[in-house]
Amino acid sequence: MSRAVVLGGGLAGVLTATVLAGHADEVVLVEGDRYPSGPHPRRGLPQSHHSHVLVAGGARALDALLPGTVDALLANGAHLRGLPGDALIYSADGWFRRLHTDAHLISCTRALLDQVVRRRALGGGDIEVWEDTRALGLIGDEARITGVAVSRQGAPPETVRTDLVVDATGRRSRSPRWLAEIGAGDVEEVSVATGLAYATRLYQAPGDLAATIPAIMLHPGVEKGRPARGATLFPVEDGRWIVTLTGTPGGEPPTDEQGFTAFARSLRHPIVADLMAEATPLGVVRPYRDTVNRRRFFERARLPAGFAVVGDAAVAVNPIHSHGMSVAALGALRLREELARHGIGPSLFTRLQAALAAEAERSWRMAIEQDTEQDTGQDTGQDTARAGKRTGERTRDRAAERDTGRSGCDGAPRREPNAFEREIRTRLAQAKLSSPRLAADFFGVQTLISADAATDRSEIARVLTGRPEPLLTAEEAIAQHPALAAWRRTRFTAATG
Ligand SMILES: Cc1cc2nc3c(=O)[nH]c(=O)nc-3n(C[C@H](O)[C@H](O)[C@H](O)COP(=O)(O)OP(=O)(O)OC[C@H]3O[C@@H](n4cnc5c(N)ncnc54)[C@H](O)[C@@H]3O)c2cc1C
Repeated sequence: MSRAVVLGGGLAGVLTATVLAGHADEVVLVEGDRYPSGPHPRRGLPQSHHSHVLVAGGARALDALLPGTVDALLANGAHLRGLPGDALIYSADGWFRRLHTDAHLISCTRALLDQVVRRRALGGGDIEVWEDTRALGLIGDEARITGVAVSRQGAPPETVRTDLVVDATGRRSRSPRWLAEIGAGDVEEVSVATGLAYATRLYQAPGDLAATIPAIMLHPGVEKGRPARGATLFPVEDGRWIVTLTGTPGGEPPTDEQGFTAFARSLRHPIVADLMAEATPLGVVRPYRDTVNRRRFFERARLPAGFAVVGDAAVAVNPIHSHGMSVAALGALRLREELARHGIGPSLFTRLQAALAAEAERSWRMAIEQDTEQDTGQDTGQDTARAGKRTGERTRDRAAERDTGRSGCDGAPRREPNAFEREIRTRLAQAKLSSPRLAADFFGVQTLISADAATDRSEIARVLTGRPEPLLTAEEAIAQHPALAAWRRTRFTAATG
């Protein structure tokens, strides 16, 4: 009789348990928290107070794992927004036109998403769920895991015998330490600090705009040496909006009422502040700071058989990229493929961790490349990264990179682009605001539905040699969204009339 134990019942853990239920005779899901009775944030998931959008690649993976989940989310009040068709996006290069592509996102509160997924995944009774139970360590040796130590409801530790342990305990996973305690090898770790601070608040939206509003994203501009400050506003269930303000060191969003509002108003465009003024705040402003990109290379370590790591416990990227839940779903799909190929026997473990890492690779690379590119010239919190340093880890030091001219995830030399290269880069970046093909490429990659930009050479040649499309003004960009434009007309006519 085979038994699998999954540690951590967040999204990665629940989906992993679902996949394992088709292969192990018994699956136990160990969760330190008690799940809330309704769609409410919980203590073990502090990020559940903040905006969580599920991008298209993750939505497809979730539906492949638990068919009908996306429809269930939409039926429970989640919103689907095409990218950039149903979004008002002010990027560093300008406002996007409303182009229709396959890329999209699903927007609802994290609590609703978790509740819908849990009901479908755990409702069948195939998985035994131990709530209020903390994982304390691994049992076994460097060759093989034979169990885990847990404490149920604060009781003294007990040992649970098992053939397979999957760590899904998230960003604060203790697996490197647990592995060291049983004599297994060190786990190499890389952290790339962002210094990014979040502040989030929910609002009851005005009735007519609540569900018709586009997804709104105000990205930071490119002002070298200045903090990068931005905002998002997404519609969520029950006629609410979730507003998240972000800023790098020196530009962190305040968490007091007045400061939060003033920050939104001081951004590159006041649209988010104007909408906040029209809505009713619900609850307090919630801060969040643990946004470091952190990767633990379990696939390079000598892991004991019977052990694997999934989700944020292995690869956690800066949440601004909105990838973590999707990577968790894609990782669970990959686990399902590996189990179909090898079963739950010993041959599963020779390549499993590498296969899971491959699934997270493109999200990791994208996050690191973009976070490096958007370097504001500030010290973006290297101390945070250094604080996590342990034996066997490497921590990326961006100050040193600036000195040595090396950067990127591969440590390749970095050369400043010359004027011609900068011009090409700007032309391409601005072209994606109006070229349907370039936008489809861009959002396809960002939402994890395509592996790489298809690099449509003829389109690139066209935009580089042709006359550039004029950039939209803010008013033109807003006018593309009739409900938003009508609301602004009424509001500003009322204000001036
Ligand atoms: C501020 C913020 C915003 C984000 N926004 C997005 C977004 O827009 N889109 C997106 O796709 N992703 C987003 N993410 C990422 C997303 O939250 C995670 O990637 C996702 O939750 C999957 O994580 P996980 O299941 O691996 O870990 P978690 O969600 O952290 O779950 C870990 C679980 O393990 C439990 N646990 C921890 N330790 C123990 C223990 N010792 N014993 C038992 N149980 C334990 C916890 O209670 C928790 O339930 C965001 C993250 C943050 C921080």
